[in-house]
Amino acid sequence: MLFVFTPPSSCANLATCGVCYHLDARPPKSPGVCDVCGSGLIQRHDDSEETVKKRLDVYRRQTRPLIAYYADWERSGDPSAPKYRKVDGVGTVESVRDACFAALLT
Ligand SMILES: [Zn+2]
Repeated sequence: MLFVFTPPSSCANLATCGVCYHLDARPPKSPGVCDVCGSGLIQRHDDSEETVKKRLDVYRRQTRPLIAYYADWERSGDPSAPKYRKVDGVGTVESVRDACFAALLT
C-alpha cells in the first residue's frame, strides 16, 4: 500500500467557524482561504507525517484486530454479541456519514 501524506487544515477562525479541509478529500475553493467565512487556514502542529505514521501504527496494532474480534463474535451466534457492520470510509465526509447511519438501521 502506498501512503502519501497530505496534512489536513482547518479554518483559523476556530471560535465561530472551524471548518476542516483536506488537500485531496475536501480542498477549499481558494487555496488557504475558508469557503465559509473567508478566514485563513491553519494546520495543527501535531499533524506531521511522523505523528500520522505513529497513529497508523497504533491503529494497526490495537484497533484493527477488533474488526475480526467483533465480526467473529457476531458470526458465533452468541445472542449477546453486538452488531458488527462494515462501512467503507473512502469518500466525502457526508457520504461516509450517510453510510454509517444507514448501517445503524440494518
Ligand atoms: Zn471559516
